[in-house]
Amino acid sequence: MPFLLRNLTLTLGEGEEILPERLSARLSLATGELAGFSIVRKGVDARQKGRIKFVYTIEFRVADEEGFKRAHLSDPDIEFLEEPGKVEFPRLTTGKRLLVTGMGPAGLFAALRLTEYGLAPTLIERGSPVEERVSDVRTFWEKGLLDPESNVQFGEGGAGTFSDGKLTTRVRDRNIDYLLHELVRFGAPPEILYLAKPHIGTDRLRQVVIGLRECLAARGVDIRFRTRLTDLLSRGGRLTGVTLNDRAEEPCDVLVLAPGNSARDTYRMLMRRSVLLEQKPFAVGVRVEHPQELINRIQYGIPGHPQLPPADYALAWNNAGTGRSAYSFCMCPGGEVVAGSSEEGGVVTNGMSSYRRNSPYANSALVVSVGKDDFGGDFPLAGMEFQRALEQRAFVAGGGDYLAPAQNLLAFLGDRRGGALRATYLPGVREADLSQLLPPAVTETLREGIRHFDRKMRGFITGEACLIGVESRTSAPVRIVRDGDLQSVSLKGL
Ligand SMILES: Cc1cc2nc3c(=O)[nH]c(=O)nc-3n(C[C@H](O)[C@H](O)[C@H](O)COP(=O)(O)OP(=O)(O)OC[C@H]3O[C@@H](n4cnc5c(N)ncnc54)[C@H](O)[C@@H]3O)c2cc1C
Repeated sequence: MPFLLRNLTLTLGEGEEILPERLSARLSLATGELAGFSIVRKGVDARQKGRIKFVYTIEFRVADEEGFKRAHLSDPDIEFLEEPGKVEFPRLTTGKRLLVTGMGPAGLFAALRLTEYGLAPTLIERGSPVEERVSDVRTFWEKGLLDPESNVQFGEGGAGTFSDGKLTTRVRDRNIDYLLHELVRFGAPPEILYLAKPHIGTDRLRQVVIGLRECLAARGVDIRFRTRLTDLLSRGGRLTGVTLNDRAEEPCDVLVLAPGNSARDTYRMLMRRSVLLEQKPFAVGVRVEHPQELINRIQYGIPGHPQLPPADYALAWNNAGTGRSAYSFCMCPGGEVVAGSSEEGGVVTNGMSSYRRNSPYANSALVVSVGKDDFGGDFPLAGMEFQRALEQRAFVAGGGDYLAPAQNLLAFLGDRRGGALRATYLPGVREADLSQLLPPAVTETLREGIRHFDRKMRGFITGEACLIGVESRTSAPVRIVRDGDLQSVSLKGL
């Protein structure tokens, strides 16, 4: 029987090689009584700046289980665990033709799960395989030449491929464990299984995606790149097939649609085919970029330490009067700000970092919630159009060549001292008044929010920080309405 111990700490300067000794001492075990252990969770506690510590949760086994249990019944940090059950997938057969659309995390893992049941779907992706996609994205970042089908949003691996690969979620789900283990099997760093704030990094993530593709192909999945779902065929409210690349019709009984939040043409096609959609609130704003050392000093009280990861932050403030919230989102320590456009004539910002998170800069989205009143109507795609208009304004403000409009943080707050404009964003930035770009309510909430953030993190407001616009693809602006069985309410099989 495995046991769990919480709140075992090491101080900065103590190495993990002393964990067995520290664990045995904490559990009052003599030499040889500890029969193995593994780290289940590791976090940094930096609440007391001069006394930063690492806090571990450890799963362990002991030689004398019953004796140990009796002796530690009342220890609040110790938990007795059940033996883990093995996840088994029954073999299924179906005469149905299965199609998965999109090779982002949703589509890839849907296809993988189908293969666990012995099923081999067809998997289509509008963009390129990740190796080619990396070079398409480089061309855009370096020369401003956008491929609308192969970019930071579209292509194998999906929207998060050029990301920090943060694996944080507030969702509690038994599939998370399965998913993390599968990511490690395909090349993700093993510590994602226990770090409190796990991340993969864009460099390792690309390898994971290739590993996943090779596994799917070996299990008989028919993978087709540069293949876009362009129409649905149906009879009597049930899906019968799809059209691909506006040309080929293909019979299909079950379509797993996982096109991400940027597939505007696909959502328009669903509207045309009377698939019930509804608006969804999301958030828009800017990316803020600080020197990483400055964030380290604020969070740790020191500019850095070889044992400490580059510091991150999560900030939120709600204006009780307006009901709007400003919050940080998708924070990338040691990262860079990236151009995430997928449509001609639109500028979109986002953030990414490598596994080592070794860039000297830290960035994060600073966003404000927006909804129906901002979109100007009930039309299901109104949020999408609101998002697009914002990206087009940013394109114009940046000069029309995919440079992003940017402003020193002090200048955005109306402080005349200003500061230099410096950003990692490629292909580059052009100075602009971001308040002229964002909806007034978003600007005002951001300004107030940033002042509140500075109270929580003294030094957040600085002339060394820069804001880059616009952050618009935080989550989907539209939702496909589904039944309890996860099928579209208007088209069975979707
Ligand atoms: C730069 C960046 C950084 C991010 N960082 C993080 C992070 O650190 N952590 C995190 O959790 N999230 C992050 N995200 C968000 C995360 O990437 C998304 O939540 C996630 O990718 C959504 O997965 P998905 O499979 O639903 O959709 P997507 O990843 O968007 O994948 C959809 C796929 O479908 C394809 N597709 C679309 N339409 C069609 C069609 N009609 N026919 C065929 N194929 C189609 C697209 O090309 C795409 O590959 C980041 C996003 C970006 C852009």
